Amino acid sequence: TRTPVNVTVTGAAGQIGYALLFRIASGHLLGADVPVKLRLLEIPQGVKAAEGTAMELDDCAFPLLKGIDIFDDPNKGFEGSNIGLLVGARPRGPGMERGDLLAANGGIFKPQGEAIAAHAADDIKILVVGNPANTNALIAQSAAKGVPAERFTAMTRLDHNRALTQLAKKTGSSVTDIKRLTIWGNHSATQYPDIFQAQIAGKNAAEIVNDEAWLAGDFIPTVAKRGAAIIDARGASSAASAANAAIDHVYTWVNGTAEGDWTSMGVPSDGSYGVPEGLISSFPVTCADGKYEIVQGLEINDFSRARIDASVKELSEERDTVRELGLI
Ligand code: NDP
Repeated sequence: TRTPVNVTVTGAAGQIGYALLFRIASGHLLGADVPVKLRLLEIPQGVKAAEGTAMELDDCAFPLLKGIDIFDDPNKGFEGSNIGLLVGARPRGPGMERGDLLAANGGIFKPQGEAIAAHAADDIKILVVGNPANTNALIAQSAAKGVPAERFTAMTRLDHNRALTQLAKKTGSSVTDIKRLTIWGNHSATQYPDIFQAQIAGKNAAEIVNDEAWLAGDFIPTVAKRGAAIIDARGASSAASAANAAIDHVYTWVNGTAEGDWTSMGVPSDGSYGVPEGLISSFPVTCADGKYEIVQGLEINDFSRARIDASVKELSEERDTVRELGLI
C-alpha cells in the first residue's frame, strides 16, 4: 500500500476550496490509486467553516482519503506537505489600488513561502490560484529559501481550458482534437491565448480559423474576460471551473502531458522567448516524471510577439511593485 500524499489547501473554506476538496479526496488530483491526506489552512475566521467542509468530506467515506487536519498556522499547515494548493488570497476591495492588493497578499504569501521552506517535504510542488496568482507565486517562491524555484507555479490552466472550448466551438471540433494551445504571460486581462502553434486534428488551427478579426476582436477578449462574464451571469465568481483547472494543472504536472501535446503553466522564466528570467509567466510546457519543461524553439509571429510583450511588461511592473514593497 502506498504512503498517502500530503496535500495542503489554503483558503479551504472558500468557494474554490469547496469545489476542490471533494475532487482531491476522490482521486482526481493525483490518480485513482493514490491515497491522500488533506491539510486545510485557513485564517482563524475561516476555521469553523473548514470544519464543516471536513465533516462533509468524512460523510463521503472516500476510500482514498486517509485523514483531514485543519490549521490556522502556515507552519503547521505545510508540515510534511508534498503538494500545496494556494487558493486563499486577499480579494480586491472597492477602491483598492493594485499596490494595496499586492501588499495585502504579501502578508499572506511571504509567511507561507517561509513555512514551505521550513516544513514542507523535499518534493513539495506548489500551485498558486489566489490572485494576482503569478505575483503571489513570485512572493512565496522568493521567501522559500532553499526550495528550487521551479517548484512554484501559477495557474493559467483555466484560461487554457476556456480557450480550448472557444476554439472548438468556432471550428466545430471537439476539445480533444485540439493540441498545442498556449496561454502566455500573466493570469490577467493581458494574457495571450495563442492558436498559431495549435493544431486541430493535426492541421494548423490559425489556418483553419483564418479570421484575424475573430481572433483579435472575439476569441482573445472572450477568453481574457471570461471571469467577469461569469460574475455578471452567475452573480458570483467562477469556482467549480477554477477548481477543475487546479486539478488539471497538478494532475498534468505529476502524471505528464500526452505525446505531441503540451499545456500552459505559469512557471519561473529561464529567459525563454524574451521573458525576463525569474518572472513567473505562463508558457507552453511539457510534463514528464513529475517535472515540466518550457517548450523551446517556437516561432513567434508579430501578432503574438506584441501581445506576449504587453503581458510580460505587466508582470515586470508587478515585480517592481513587490520589490519596492520589500516583499521579494
Ligand atoms: P474563492 O475561493 O472564490 O477565490 C479564492 C482566490 O482564487 C481568489 O484570490 C480569487 O481571485 C482566485 N481565483 C483565481 N482564479 C479564479 C477564477 N477563475 N475564478 C474565481 N476566483 C479565482 O474566494 P472566497 O472568498 O470564497 O474564499 C477565500 C478563502 O480564503 C476564505 O475562506 C478566506 O478565509 C481564505 N483565506 C485564507 C488565507 C490563508 O489560508 N492564509 C488567506 C486569505 C484568505 P479573485 O479575488 O481575483 O477572484
